[in-house]
Amino acid sequence: MQRTNAPLLCRARRTVSVLAFATLAGCATTQQPPVAPASPAQPLPPPARPQAPAAQNPPGPEQGFAQWVKDFRAEMRAAGVGEAALRDAFDKVQYLPRVIELDRAQPEFVRPVWDYLDTAVSAQRVATGQEKLAQIRSAADAASARYGVPPGVIAAIWGIESNYGGNYGNTPAIDALATLAYEGRRRDWARGELRAALRIIENGDIDHAHMVGSWAGAMGQTQFLPSNFLRYAVDADGDGKRDIWGSMPDVMASTANFLASSGWQRGQPWGAEVQLPSNFDYGRADSSVRQASGQWAAEGVRSMDGRPLPDFADGAILLPAGARGPAFLVGPNYRAVLRYNNSDSYALAVGLLSQRLEGGPGVQAQWPRELTPLTRSQMRELQTVLNQEGFSSGEPDGLLGPATRAAVRRYQHSAGLVADGFPTLELLQRLQAP
Ligand code: CA
Repeated sequence: MQRTNAPLLCRARRTVSVLAFATLAGCATTQQPPVAPASPAQPLPPPARPQAPAAQNPPGPEQGFAQWVKDFRAEMRAAGVGEAALRDAFDKVQYLPRVIELDRAQPEFVRPVWDYLDTAVSAQRVATGQEKLAQIRSAADAASARYGVPPGVIAAIWGIESNYGGNYGNTPAIDALATLAYEGRRRDWARGELRAALRIIENGDIDHAHMVGSWAGAMGQTQFLPSNFLRYAVDADGDGKRDIWGSMPDVMASTANFLASSGWQRGQPWGAEVQLPSNFDYGRADSSVRQASGQWAAEGVRSMDGRPLPDFADGAILLPAGARGPAFLVGPNYRAVLRYNNSDSYALAVGLLSQRLEGGPGVQAQWPRELTPLTRSQMRELQTVLNQEGFSSGEPDGLLGPATRAAVRRYQHSAGLVADGFPTLELLQRLQAP
């Protein structure tokens, strides 16, 4: 949750042991520059080797890590954490260099939404999901009855997070989070999650060896961070442990509880694909523009099958690929899924996979597959030139956030273009033209 998609994480994790030694050998101090940006889908370049042997061997990250663990352990002991939990958590804790490599990698190539959906909602993912859901039907139905989240939605999250439990990672969460708290990009965050992980061990839900997940600390079949585990995990099978690794009743109930606590409305769909009228003002397709479905209908927004629109009090129009791609009307349940992982591609994949698992349709309009999404450096160029032209997009960071979308819309509007806020290479070239 709250990170990039699980398949990438899982692919990365399998190489941890292979690269661990090579990385250690080349990493003489903790002050190495970050590794070159690379797509997580491609092998990372080997780390830079020191130019010349140092006169004295400076302490490597592992020595520094051992001292850091000692200090953290003392701090936790002083804070009242029991000795048995501290021993289980830290006696065999390991520094994981690969975790730092992945934490510092910034992918240059951005995966277009249609490409992500091809994998996340593939025919195979649907077929496997229907089979898996049938196997755990009573656990899914019980969670659904208790929390009001349909079985298909819980199963869709399960499918996307770990391919229905087939691949949820085997990195000990304590090791990953201790490494990140020691020298990751977000140390305070990792430290907080590590404290939460320690509380889980102390509660007796699971031990160090079995508390496993992704390199980034997301755990179990639906990838809970430890802080979310403490808030939302549920012991649904009544064995006294909250087990999101091995107990399907616990996995289903915990995931449904997360969504229910994030604003999921019982009985409402996540959203629906819609058709927009030819005179639609694309400037209004924005998550901040919300109104009742009746008002959207009065403006000419129609469902694909001619039936009434889902009944939302505050629905928004979503154009994941701009005005040339499919349109969706999304409501509070879509926003609850965003709380699980704040990415439109992710939330859309969960909605569409749940719909397919329940026998519904996939996306009907065509994706604009001819468009090439901007790379991270092209996005930075776009932000820079927008700023220069007076359309403030904030500090250029290469990421498409709300400020950049708004700046793109303002530019499009001023240039008489369709103001869908969707940046393309064409748009960048137009802005860069003399
Ligand atoms: Ca249990």
